Amino acid sequence: MTTNPTLRRGPIPARDPALGRVGVTPSPLALLLLGRQADPASERGVDCPGELPPAADPALTARAAAAKRALGDRAFILGHHYQRDEVIAFADVTGDSFKLAQQAAARPQAEAIVFCGVHFMAESADILTGAHQQVILPDLAAGCSMADMATAEQVEQAWDDLLDAGVAADTVPVSYMNSSAAIKAFTGRHDGTICTSSNARRALEWAFGERGGARVLFLPDQHLGRNTAIGELGTSEQDCVVYDPRKPSGGLTRRQLRAAKMILWRGHCSVHGRFTRDSVDEVRRRIPGVTVLAHPECRREVVTAADLVGSTEYIISVVAAAPAGSAFAIGTELNLVQRLATRHPDKTIVFLDRTVCFCSTMNRIDMPHLVWALESLVRGETVNRITVDPDVATYARKALDQMLALP
Ligand code: SF4
Repeated sequence: MTTNPTLRRGPIPARDPALGRVGVTPSPLALLLLGRQADPASERGVDCPGELPPAADPALTARAAAAKRALGDRAFILGHHYQRDEVIAFADVTGDSFKLAQQAAARPQAEAIVFCGVHFMAESADILTGAHQQVILPDLAAGCSMADMATAEQVEQAWDDLLDAGVAADTVPVSYMNSSAAIKAFTGRHDGTICTSSNARRALEWAFGERGGARVLFLPDQHLGRNTAIGELGTSEQDCVVYDPRKPSGGLTRRQLRAAKMILWRGHCSVHGRFTRDSVDEVRRRIPGVTVLAHPECRREVVTAADLVGSTEYIISVVAAAPAGSAFAIGTELNLVQRLATRHPDKTIVFLDRTVCFCSTMNRIDMPHLVWALESLVRGETVNRITVDPDVATYARKALDQMLALP
């Protein structure tokens, strides 16, 4: 195995039990943007101890391969669909966030789970894996802007508003997988469920059916909540309200809260939120006969104009099953769209928008961070471990188990 003599031992970050994530130190925004220090209001940490190999090191691929070989079954590398190609090449399994967490849980022999994804995914993996396993996020700056749009304090305030309006007792929290462990724990404490973009419909049907809810508090992605409720359950626009955590009482009156069936949190994905109705119209003009395939995190105007709508796993399967010569414009993260285009050279596959846009936090996981994390493990050092506070984990697990039990 080749090792880098410039690597220094990096301390394992201390865990902050109150936050249920790696301990953080307040820092100015400028430092946050530079990827140093930490943001206590974020669902992620940002500190990166130790020295990284230079990005220009031509031996990075060989070093990652050597470290992976040396670790063998002791380390299991997970790669989210939105990761860079050079990182995905080292993944033992690829998938969406929930599939990856399940895969981690199915590998009890792996002492280290190296999660090439973002912070909330690593938290879920820590919740679902055994106490003897360590979950590692190669760059702690890999957060998620959507997950950051719902903090535990804001959501507790929203619940107080629902209590004041007299509607909390028959409101069921349904939280998207793309949320912090603290939000998942809130959901579990109030007997709600987690959902993914694949099972959001079943989660809402359960909330209004078996669970007996009169309304749902949907966190944190307003678009997935709206697209599922209106597009799949036939809920009317008038039955949906948006709770804005930056406004007193969410910007809603008690009467609006009482009348609503869907209380949508004002959160969104900054990547999928870029697509517009104009993007769809423009690509249809440019590529006659193109099939527009959109992720349900896109705005309603995009989803209603698209031909097909579904999760990343659905998008991958639709493209794979299509005959040669098919043309797709895909509204999801660019790394995945580019990989699909490479994988299917007999099909025309383009990004839905003319302006290219990667998920910047997903892209934080790069070869220097991956090599650093793997070589540290080879030396017996764990860096960037993600741990969730046991109390938070207990209730988050309850909400995750409810999702697994959905009919
Ligand atoms: S693509 Fe959107 S939802 Fe996914 S990690 Fe990036 S910001 Fe979060």
